[in-house]
Amino acid sequence: MRQYAVFGDPIAHSKSPLLHNRVFLELGVPAFYGRYHLKEPSSLLERFHALGLEGANITVPFKEVAFEQCDEVRGIAQKIGSVNTMVKEGERVIGYNTDAEGFFQTLEGKLRPQNVLILGAGGTAKALAMIFDLHQIPVTILNRTPGRLKPLAEQGFKTLTHEEFAPDSYDLIINSTSAGLSDDSLPLPAPWLESLLHSGVLAYDVIYGKTTPFLRLAKAQGARFQDGREMLISQAALSSLHFTQHHFSLSTLHSLMRLALPQ
Ligand code: NDP
Repeated sequence: MRQYAVFGDPIAHSKSPLLHNRVFLELGVPAFYGRYHLKEPSSLLERFHALGLEGANITVPFKEVAFEQCDEVRGIAQKIGSVNTMVKEGERVIGYNTDAEGFFQTLEGKLRPQNVLILGAGGTAKALAMIFDLHQIPVTILNRTPGRLKPLAEQGFKTLTHEEFAPDSYDLIINSTSAGLSDDSLPLPAPWLESLLHSGVLAYDVIYGKTTPFLRLAKAQGARFQDGREMLISQAALSSLHFTQHHFSLSTLHSLMRLALPQ
């Protein structure tokens, strides 16, 4: 039986085993997907091999470590500098990033944004900024502190700290901060969000499994809103394409994962 796992710290909350095992089970793939609580980042690749894995997902806070440790990194992961999917190819481990493309696919048929505001400047923000840039969609990244903005500004992105913020018009506003994840906070002061969120806007929170204060405010303002569930499924389905060696269609993988993760 082939073995797969997700690595992270913390990891108990991860829905990835639920999604991937559903696919393996329903499609008769002789494989099992577990979770692994990694504490020592430098041992990621060593643990991957020691556990006899054929593939893995990497979550917070090890995506940059995975990027460093893979034998080869392919696709947009090279630009983002982070890997969320590791796949064994012969004796080598290849790294991919499915977060960015997974997110972008969730917009298809819904919105072709003209002007995007990303709240937060962490790993997820970076992945999303890169995919918008690839599709030549203008993006502004707004973060409460300057530290994480600096490398993004150096790569040519428009960046703003909260101090520099001035309201503009955006048709897609994404909360990629962890505000609202385990507390009741907003990613921006409420009056600013009230000026940004209205009926022509899609408010997108990458956090899944709860209606965050950001989404509650968007709803109250009459904006369209969406949580991170579809993104979670979409990035997992793209990883699953790699894990199952492209034997099944993306839509089949999507449908099975949707069944595994009730609304
Ligand atoms: P990082 O730790 O890399 O970045 C966190 C960002 O949030 C930083 O920019 C930080 O600002 C900002 N931030 C944290 N708290 C607040 C706050 N109270 N107010 C304003 N800004 C805040 O995290 P990631 O980018 O890796 O992950 C972000 C979120 O995305 C997580 O909630 C994660 O669960 C979710 N996620 C969802 C996925 C999905 O499939 N649905 C996939 C990947 C991630 P500062 O720099 O000032 O500290």
